[in-house]
Amino acid sequence: MLTFPGTPQHYPEVKPAEARKKDFEEIYGNFDKIQAAAQASRCSQCGVPFCQIHCPLSNNIPDWLKLTAEGRLEEAYAISSATNTFPEICGRICPQDRLCEGNCVIEKGFKSVTIGSIEKYITENAFASGMVKPISVAQESGLSVGIIGSGPAGLAAADMLRRKGHDVHVYDRYDRVGGLLMYGIPNFKLEKSIVLRRHQLLKEGGIHFHLNYAVKDLGTLQEKHDAVLIATGVYKSRDIRIPEYSLGNIIPALKYLTASNRKELGDTVPGFDNGTLDASGKDVAVIGGGDTAMDCVRTAVRQGAASVTCLYRRDQANMPGSAREVKNALEEGVKFLFLSAPKAFIGNGSVNQILVQQMRLTTHDAPENGERGRQSVAPVEEETFTLKCDLAIKALGFDAEDLPVLLKAPALRLSQYGTVDINKKNFATSIDGVFAAGDIVRGASLVVWAIRDGRDAATAVHRYVTEKQLSKRNAA
Ligand code: FAD
Ligand code: SF4
Ligand code: SF4
Repeated sequence: MLTFPGTPQHYPEVKPAEARKKDFEEIYGNFDKIQAAAQASRCSQCGVPFCQIHCPLSNNIPDWLKLTAEGRLEEAYAISSATNTFPEICGRICPQDRLCEGNCVIEKGFKSVTIGSIEKYITENAFASGMVKPISVAQESGLSVGIIGSGPAGLAAADMLRRKGHDVHVYDRYDRVGGLLMYGIPNFKLEKSIVLRRHQLLKEGGIHFHLNYAVKDLGTLQEKHDAVLIATGVYKSRDIRIPEYSLGNIIPALKYLTASNRKELGDTVPGFDNGTLDASGKDVAVIGGGDTAMDCVRTAVRQGAASVTCLYRRDQANMPGSAREVKNALEEGVKFLFLSAPKAFIGNGSVNQILVQQMRLTTHDAPENGERGRQSVAPVEEETFTLKCDLAIKALGFDAEDLPVLLKAPALRLSQYGTVDINKKNFATSIDGVFAAGDIVRGASLVVWAIRDGRDAATAVHRYVTEKQLSKRNAA
């Protein structure tokens, strides 16, 4: 360990921008054993590991780095998978620059340990060597849990609850599992075979999946199961109400990304096949500056758009998403117009221009529309310009759908943000035996937080169902 003074930081090879623009394959390669050991050995084994403190799963990073450096990969996998249900996914798509790696306190002047890539290596090596086995249950509990939603929160909870011997049923309105892992996040960040591989393992471990099953009545699930976990994510796209906002070819980001992901999976997608959701040959403008906007601009590049522009009302320093993704987009030829906000769409039936308002930064940290920690903006009077655009994609964030109505559960209490209100200590909602986790509680967040919430909620659900069973036995 402590080799950082003589071993420079390396990431796995990244495909050059010109090559990666041609397809949807993941852009990062994988370490081999020697590279992983060398990079892991840079860690200085801090007494107080800030990397671990800033990992939402509190992964025991220094230990699995040391084991990797020593070539003890089976033990490294055992430790990394003890706290992370899907380390191969986090290793790929966590914004490490804001989490573990961004807080690595290796000596000043030396670059952080490449933690995410090593986590991915450990797990891919474990899969390739047959170390990753389906869940094996020693004794069935005789208790049943229903989970609504097969995104990372639902899947993490399902994994943990099945390990406790419960009969776990996951319901999802989509035809494939994964939630945003499958239909939101593009292939070039996370190939879908990685998600399908986990689905297969979970199925082999005895978890029942009910796909194409939109839950419309919470009560029916409560009758079937001893407890229910709501992990439905947030899907209501925020809109932009400026003049001519209802022109054609102005579409929400998730509709666009879902069509692209489905196409890559080989599905027939009418909206894509008739050209509406295909950026090929078009002048594309993406409105927004977060990770979803970056996924849209980079998807449009790969679809062969004539030009791709990102309109963001603040400056680059105030962008909410991962700096790594912005850098990737810049390398791939995306044009960024900072301090620029759409003022009106222009067109006849369909959009063909956007009137753009020049903005300026004002106060710091002023809460604006619920956002905190970024500078506010105001228009620069009289400063507008037009941008040619025949496909506008709105990537302005997501809110929760109206769950009490959708699930016919008027007693389900919501927070002031429209998300499900829970008791933070035990993930319990206002309805007895019903729990909630993931984006539907936090609002739009990160995969790693959904996994964390799913795992913690599973502990609370397990406690609830076993106590209920015990009190039934005592009463009998
Ligand atoms: P979801 O993943 O949204 O899953 C919810 C599931 O519930 C869905 O499958 C849905 O079909 C199902 N469902 C909803 N209602 C019902 C119902 N009534 N009946 C049955 N099923 C239902 N995070 C990162 O960490 N890194 C990234 O790079 C990243 N990129 C992103 C890119 C995009 C475009 C988006 C939109 C998000 C991204 N995120 C990223 C955020 C991350 O994907 C989410 O925080 C995470 O997926 C939330 O997990 P979840 O399980 O709570 O919900
Ligand atoms: Fe870093 Fe994410 Fe892995 Fe935690 S789960 S160590 S934050 S990559
Ligand atoms: Fe190693 Fe960096 Fe974590 Fe310290 S903060 S234990 S150097 S990875």
